[in-house]
Amino acid sequence: MSKKMLCSKCKTEPATLILPRDQSKVCKECFFYIVEDSVHRAIVDHKLFTKGDILAVGASGGKDSTTLIHILHVLNEKYDYGADLHMVSIDEGIKGYRDESLDAVRRNQKKYGWPLTIVSFKDLFGYSLDTIVSLLGHRKTCTHCGIFRRQALDVGAKKISATKIVLGHNANDYAETTLLNLIRGDLSRLKRGSTIITDSGYGPARIKPFKYVYQEEIVKYAFLKKLDYHSVECPYAINAQRGLPRVYLNQLDRVASWSVLGFIKSNEQLQINEKKKKKLIAKKCIKCGFLTSQKLCQACVLRQTLEDSFSKLKIKIEEDEDEDEDENEEQKEKKEENKKNKNEKKEEKQKNKNKEETEKELEIEKEKN
Ligand SMILES: [Zn+2]
Ligand SMILES: [Zn+2]
Repeated sequence: MSKKMLCSKCKTEPATLILPRDQSKVCKECFFYIVEDSVHRAIVDHKLFTKGDILAVGASGGKDSTTLIHILHVLNEKYDYGADLHMVSIDEGIKGYRDESLDAVRRNQKKYGWPLTIVSFKDLFGYSLDTIVSLLGHRKTCTHCGIFRRQALDVGAKKISATKIVLGHNANDYAETTLLNLIRGDLSRLKRGSTIITDSGYGPARIKPFKYVYQEEIVKYAFLKKLDYHSVECPYAINAQRGLPRVYLNQLDRVASWSVLGFIKSNEQLQINEKKKKKLIAKKCIKCGFLTSQKLCQACVLRQTLEDSFSKLKIKIEEDEDEDEDENEEQKEKKEENKKNKNEKKEEKQKNKNKEETEKELEIEKEKN
């Protein structure tokens, strides 16, 4: 960019940045204003919240949620929203990752002075995500985590009597979800995935003020404002299904920056044939009372799977300990050999059972969504 070029918005300051959404050249201050204003417009135009609302803002310590917290803090003062702002964090129990990002959350809590509530998987469900992975394997970690996260966030919000849950989903996330559901042919999810307010009628509605802000704008904003966030990716986040739409959208973005918003606008205007929509019958989980379309909610099904795996593991360890007593080396070796074969068979059986259970779970998830 040549030094003489002036900001396309204020026409007085030199342009130092390219605005990701339309590639126009702007100065730093105008860039901040444009990003903050699209959040403000989303809040006002869609009536995301009003005076007196208690907002539980999901704080992961990552770039998106840290920027969201900063901008909400700025706007709440600037426009006097009168919202009661809280941070709610989820501690999934991921050693070396979540503990560090929670440190960033705590530093921001001091900076902005909002109350912070932390809900942990271990306290709420009895298992940390690391334990879940050791019991059920790596295959469905993100699905399992998502099931518990959704409920943990509701519990955290309930603790502070929140009236709304605020999430940091941005325009690129929306475009990706749209594309993903188009690929899957999942029309009811396609439509539900486009709304800026998701209200299941149970617990506080989830609102997403970053819906029209590009991922790259958040990155630039966080960098230029020197926000304090944890930039390491979750070690379990190998989201293969999201991979392709993300790569495709990034490529598209390079030649047609408006395509991200284009996907969003198209989806907003889409009319789904009512007959194609699956009817959702909302019930309450017979075990925990959360909203579900089945007898048991997904979290309770997962918890049951974990309990089964855990008790089988315990029985196996106890058996091993009993059998180890009063044996000479030769017998021991022979037995060990037999046991190894037996255990391998057992494991195989268990694996198949787990597979069946997760598949069943997936079916439930499919139906629910
Ligand atoms: Zn300017
Ligand atoms: Zn339940």
